[in-house]
Amino acid sequence: MEFIPNRVMIEREALGYPLGRSLYDYFKSQPVELAIIGSHNRVGGIPGKTPQEKYREAKKTLVLGVRKNLTFQTCKPSAHFQLPLTTSCPGKCEYCYLISSLPEKPYIRAYVNIDEILDRAGNYIDQRKPEVTIFEGSATSDPIPVERYTGALARAITFFAGQKYGRFRFVTKFTDVDSLLGISHNDHTVCRFSLNTPAVIKKFEHGTPSLEERLEAAQKMAAANYPLGFMIAPVIVYEGWQDDYIKLLEFVKARCNNIEKLSFEFVTHRFTERARKKIAEIFPATTLPMGNEDRKFKFGQFGYGKYVYTDDLMGKIKSILSAKVMELFPASHIEYIV
Ligand code: SF4
Repeated sequence: MEFIPNRVMIEREALGYPLGRSLYDYFKSQPVELAIIGSHNRVGGIPGKTPQEKYREAKKTLVLGVRKNLTFQTCKPSAHFQLPLTTSCPGKCEYCYLISSLPEKPYIRAYVNIDEILDRAGNYIDQRKPEVTIFEGSATSDPIPVERYTGALARAITFFAGQKYGRFRFVTKFTDVDSLLGISHNDHTVCRFSLNTPAVIKKFEHGTPSLEERLEAAQKMAAANYPLGFMIAPVIVYEGWQDDYIKLLEFVKARCNNIEKLSFEFVTHRFTERARKKIAEIFPATTLPMGNEDRKFKFGQFGYGKYVYTDDLMGKIKSILSAKVMELFPASHIEYIV
């Protein structure tokens, strides 16, 4: 599933970087709308009258810019820091938390000053050594779809292969991983694939590869000896969810029986009031379960709260999933279920 944008906007300053220049030259020869813009943060000219049209058009728009803010956000529970390489992705998952955290038009943005970003990661590593510092490459995006243009993940993987005290991880639903297979990673990068039940993928994960395709890509990464994990997120409670998530784990077992060590992460579905409104605007016919039944309101650290499953339901989800993982994958470990 290749990402081919309809329009590309390049920040003027990005043309001063070899990657920005070569991408400008490349897209000039492609049948895309191409524009030079003043700032990757103030992007005008993406068409669309309704929220749905604006969203769809933004998902076909690639913006290339220079990352100026080199203060990295923290990234719990999966890592110490976010590694900011890209934001957004061409997928259209109804539950995606970026729907409410990105501005109205969630265009896909990639940075061309990758060396500066990686140098900054090196500073963070130096400050914390001899503690190992872990960086997450997917905190605000799915980084695989733009990899064919930027090569940013490949460079990050190579950089972290040489870091004694630095580790990298990223998660994806996409399958375009061939360019990563021959890279020397030194076991310092964990690649995780985001999976869900076929019902959730079909109903809510529009524009993303099927479960089978994701597992095929996982097999390729395993064959290239990458440490591998599965992120099952969001775990959504719906009619028949227990059976479906158990079947999902059994299906993973059947397809990945040859992979010795795996890690698992589970994130249950949660949403803010702002997200609920935004999702209803962009997907007016959504059937994403966002009622108040089975939910409790939990205050977050920045003052705004979110709806999470009740303690009883969380306990049930945790015990069902952890028991099944331990039964099917005794050599694996569960990093968290939240
Ligand atoms: Fe959001 Fe990930 Fe879906 Fe992209 S693939 S829309 S980043 S949840």
